[in-house]
Amino acid sequence: MTRPTLPFVLLAIAAALVLTRCTSAPPPRNVPQKLVILGFDGMDPHLLKQYMDQGAMPNFAKLAAKGGFWPLGTTVSPESPTAWAAFATGVNAGKHNIYDFLVRDKKTYLPDFGLVTRVPPHFLFNYIPISRPKVLSIRGGTSFWVTAGKAGIRSEVMTVPDSFPPEEVPNGQLLSGLPLPDLRGTIGTFYYFGTDLSRYEEGNTEFGGILKRLVMTNNTADTELVGPPNPIVKQEIAAIRQKPTLTDADRASLAKLEATADVRVPMTIHWDRAGQAATIQIEGQDVTLKPGGWSPWVKLNFEINFLVRLHGMVQFYLIRADQELQLYVSPINFEPQDPPVPMSYPASLSDTLYKRLGEYRTLGWAEATWGLNEDRIGEGPFMYDLFRAFDDRARVILDRLDSTPWRLFVGVIESTDRVQHMMWRLIDPTSPMYDSALAAKYGDSIERVYQRCDEFVGEVMKRVGPDVPIVIVSDHGFHSFRESVNLNTWLVQNGYMVLHGQGGGQKTLADLFGGGTFWENVDWSKTRAYAMGLGQIYINLKGREGQGIVEPGAQYRQLVDEIAAKLMTFTDPKTGAPVVHAVYEGHKVWSGPYMDNAPDLQVGLSDGYRVSWQTTLGGAPPELVYPNMKKWSGDHGSFDYKQTSGILVSNEKIDATDPNIKDIAPTVLEYFGVPIPGDIDGKPLFAPAAVQQMIKGQTAGSHD
Ligand SMILES: [Zn+2]
Repeated sequence: MTRPTLPFVLLAIAAALVLTRCTSAPPPRNVPQKLVILGFDGMDPHLLKQYMDQGAMPNFAKLAAKGGFWPLGTTVSPESPTAWAAFATGVNAGKHNIYDFLVRDKKTYLPDFGLVTRVPPHFLFNYIPISRPKVLSIRGGTSFWVTAGKAGIRSEVMTVPDSFPPEEVPNGQLLSGLPLPDLRGTIGTFYYFGTDLSRYEEGNTEFGGILKRLVMTNNTADTELVGPPNPIVKQEIAAIRQKPTLTDADRASLAKLEATADVRVPMTIHWDRAGQAATIQIEGQDVTLKPGGWSPWVKLNFEINFLVRLHGMVQFYLIRADQELQLYVSPINFEPQDPPVPMSYPASLSDTLYKRLGEYRTLGWAEATWGLNEDRIGEGPFMYDLFRAFDDRARVILDRLDSTPWRLFVGVIESTDRVQHMMWRLIDPTSPMYDSALAAKYGDSIERVYQRCDEFVGEVMKRVGPDVPIVIVSDHGFHSFRESVNLNTWLVQNGYMVLHGQGGGQKTLADLFGGGTFWENVDWSKTRAYAMGLGQIYINLKGREGQGIVEPGAQYRQLVDEIAAKLMTFTDPKTGAPVVHAVYEGHKVWSGPYMDNAPDLQVGLSDGYRVSWQTTLGGAPPELVYPNMKKWSGDHGSFDYKQTSGILVSNEKIDATDPNIKDIAPTVLEYFGVPIPGDIDGKPLFAPAAVQQMIKGQTAGSHD
């Protein structure tokens, strides 16, 4: 018998993959009513009111005049992953399992990205791919578009956060949003190449950048773009590490393998000093840019081996080419026509959209916040790029509105969140990062993005006509982030956390996600509580945490009460102002099957104070409270959720005084006459009689 050939093996794998994806959807139902839900991440009720009062938001005003404008209650904690999960499922975090953007490993105390778990691909003989990489969502609960789809309601679900990996939507189509990663598997690694970097500045930034020094010879520099980790090399490294003892030869191979753990693409940069321009040569493509110029999307192949290539695309932005050469490169987006893992349901949708619209950015976190936060690009290019990110999302949404037989439409754009994170300092003169010259130039950035939202809403209104209900939501509001608060330092100073020696050095994202050192100074045998993520505090509980010391029951209860009470007395050492606005005990605000993952305490900080980046990374530097000197100057995570509501604007009136983001799912199901599952925590917002009126209006005015 002959051995099966390679193509045969690959064909068999492909067939198996196709077979596992076939499921039967119930037939679509021809209902007369339509419903549009638009989301703008982080749209703030105070700013929206201000801009509406100024007359800057005519389409929002038109909708609100017919229906209304309300603050929309958000989740504990007020973070996008948590709140959008509640939006989709109508349940609290005890039932949907997303408490923060990080989750802790209870055994090791190590944090991980909280939204997905990853299964790496597997290669037979370290060569032949036998299983594709998989990304699994950890979210519990059922999305309303899935429940509605099972009842025959046709839907389009576009770039809603928490929708990667894409779930199967009966009678629907879904394009993934956050946390759809870049090709490196991160939330968005940017690149900065510069002649001005010193050797010591090279490497990874605190948040999401790779800096490379350009060394010019005859105005030419040879460098490389660091691509995705090579899963084959990772597999080989893991195999060696599994050996009980390592020989010198093993150690030598490990060092060699680790140097090639990422796939790197060679890149040459020619600097035209006289013409003040640069030409980038990469994979046989030439891109010439003038300072301030952005390239179109440049497609790149990252070769894992002869059989496997990953496809990505980047944009180059030439910052300057006068006395120094500085080049910014966007995170490597998946190519929508050939992503390494599916990014839509059905999987072919991302390619269909590419064929209709050309390239569009696929990265969930689509805006260049990290480059600006690390001071590698300025406000001008950040805003230019942010509007392109907005346009890409808007193009996809309008295309689906126009060309599909939807009844339920859900589309979310997140640029509102990003512009507020980065530009809040320019609307808050009390921010330590306020800069009057920059404010004169870019102080209207947030308002301009709100106006872009209004224009977009106008385009949607034109398309769907006056009789279709439009519901606009945001997942949370915003605050100024003037002061950073180190919760772990507070725990150390109050004797709840005990360190060996002094606090560790500065942490970077590589420590968090790259398996670097973490909690290296914490003495777990004496530590009773620790903080992680945005305002979550966990008790080092015996039987639950790996090295737990606090007895469950009375001792645990007493400690939780004690820390909660003491946190309320936490004041700013400089001003005496209260730092903590509220503390919530986990078992009082959440309930459900995922309570084992719930924080024991959720801290809600006062306006102006946010948990420090170092706390989210597990660090405990010496100062309790210090000014936030980053451009990331607006935030919502770790603030008191009661002071961080989002918005609800609709052309229909609602039958509730305190609408909450958990209410959207049951509202949709009730509107389509689909039974609301018993475990949903939210309540329908439309009165049943009003729903009948809405349907009647559409039947009368129906054209299709
Ligand atoms: Zn945000």
